[in-house]
Amino acid sequence: MFKLRLLNAVAPAYFFTATVATFILYFYLFIPTIFPNPDLSLRSSTALHTAAFLFLMFNALGNYVMTIKYPAESANETVVPCSPHCSDNVDAHYLLNGRHFCKLCKKVILKRDHHCFFTGNCIGNKNMRYFIMFCIYTSCTCLYSLVLGVAFLTVEYSISFENPLTFLTLLPLSTGYFFMGSISGLQLFLVLMLYVWLGIGLVSTGFCCQQVLLVARGQTWCQLQRGDLLENRTPWRANLKDVFGNRWMIGLILPVQTVETFWESVSHNHHN
Ligand SMILES: [Zn+2]
Repeated sequence: MFKLRLLNAVAPAYFFTATVATFILYFYLFIPTIFPNPDLSLRSSTALHTAAFLFLMFNALGNYVMTIKYPAESANETVVPCSPHCSDNVDAHYLLNGRHFCKLCKKVILKRDHHCFFTGNCIGNKNMRYFIMFCIYTSCTCLYSLVLGVAFLTVEYSISFENPLTFLTLLPLSTGYFFMGSISGLQLFLVLMLYVWLGIGLVSTGFCCQQVLLVARGQTWCQLQRGDLLENRTPWRANLKDVFGNRWMIGLILPVQTVETFWESVSHNHHN
């Protein structure tokens, strides 16, 4: 349990550090080096790259905030019944009807999917949409930063990435060179960041695909782990709409609320 609590504190710190490092590297190293200022012909591509980067970052951070701002629904149960048969999951007790007691959030969460350590929040039906968009934009930002990082190393240090093996030998060689004193700490940090971006990018993409598939099936990660079978299968379109809301198209490009709020759905039902 202590390990999980530690992870819950370390993961957001890691996320913020990586974000700040990406921002600094992008604006102080990558852009000035890859697109040098005196070259006027590059001005439009510089603007295009900056706009793309800011757009990706804005959406990643915006959806991160939305995941926390609109948390998964929780019940106001203070006493948690725990039978001897309670399946003691790593981070949550399964109660009944999709209700879980999250040990980290210390709340009973309805329709819980999983606990996200990066946001320090439980992911349920309410914030699933933002969580998926957060994963998509995080992976885009990371993979884009990776491409610019590789471009920077090629321009600044003439490292050729033509051979695919370069990426495998880059970290061990750089670490060796750093301890021999041939390269600076900044160069080693840059190489490390390439691996961080690649890692987060791939993990987020995989996670996002898994979540979209689960949402389309109308299943949660918890149900999948418990081996619960779906009784009444709803069509995937309805399942996706349930999570992504009616205004899903705006949600794809902006971190805004697209799922009907409680009062909207009440008035909607009233009209029907
Ligand atoms: Zn939780």
